[in-house]
Amino acid sequence: EAVLAKHNNATILLMGLRRSGKSSICKVVFHDMQPLDTLYLESTTKPTTENFKSLIDLAVMELPGQLNLFEPSLYDSEKLFSSIGALVYVIDSQDEYLSALQNLAVIIKYACSVNSKLHIEVLIHKIDGLSEDFRLETQRDIMQRVGDDLLDYGLDGVQISFYLTSIFDHSIYEAFSRIVQKLIYELPALENLLDLLMQYSTLDKVFLFDVNSKIYVATDSSPVDMQTYEVCAEFIDVTIDLDGLYENSGQEADGTVRSQPTRCVSKLQSGSVLYLHQMIRGLALVAVMRLEDENDTNALAVIDHNVLVFKKSLEKLWERARIK
Ligand code: GDP
Repeated sequence: EAVLAKHNNATILLMGLRRSGKSSICKVVFHDMQPLDTLYLESTTKPTTENFKSLIDLAVMELPGQLNLFEPSLYDSEKLFSSIGALVYVIDSQDEYLSALQNLAVIIKYACSVNSKLHIEVLIHKIDGLSEDFRLETQRDIMQRVGDDLLDYGLDGVQISFYLTSIFDHSIYEAFSRIVQKLIYELPALENLLDLLMQYSTLDKVFLFDVNSKIYVATDSSPVDMQTYEVCAEFIDVTIDLDGLYENSGQEADGTVRSQPTRCVSKLQSGSVLYLHQMIRGLALVAVMRLEDENDTNALAVIDHNVLVFKKSLEKLWERARIK
């Protein structure tokens, strides 16, 4: 049953009051828009859906805040809520948020009644405007209030995850990475493979990135530190730019042009070495490691070999997933 479920688009439903930041989040994460350009976005007036092919087929559906969720003429909310994998509710932390919390409680109550497997994710958004102390205080306050509301509804067992986010830093990508990962059926297998790769290649950290969105669909089991994530995400942009410059294709002996998988190695000032290798389905493996010399061909040959083994496993995993 779980296998079947995976083959429908894993749909993430994005909700929140008007101006909470839903369109901005979609544009920045999935369309590479510069955060400041979101200032001029028109407010959403009708539901929009974005489809993304990554390791899983993903759809992000945005519901405009000003619509009444239970307005039957607009869409079949029962059908909608029973078909989605995650509900992401965006709260503007810079604004008075009590009405947002009321709205959220009503939605959770409804969502739980039609879909008990739903992942409920709350973004405490626009935290760039809050001081460090106030962020934590806001988070505590919101968690407390949501907890109280659910208790009133007799829903105190419902699991909800909270994330502090902003489109002006990497927190929004980190949140989406964790949200998307919950929807990937193969995640434990992937994490295992990445742990093995780490072990055999003496890497410090490894991510499997969706190149377009900079969401990481998996990482090894060591903790993620924001700075490492940022460095790796930026490395993808640099590599893609270089790739465009050098036209990533090679001429075969018989004259056919063959596309080469992108591979890139670069040494940072800190002494760490960044490594990128293109995988399948718009994914890239990005690793951080320590090498005495980034031209250490022996060490790199071992890593290349192991990464290719990983890529094969990934292909198999993907094939099997599709055949099932
Ligand atoms: P929607 O109606 O929920 O789709 O909201 P929009 O995406 O149109 O965003 C409303 C406003 O919030 C825009 O002016 C955005 O620039 C702004 N905004 C969105 N995300 C952030 C954020 O993380 N920080 C700040 N400071 N402003 C944001």
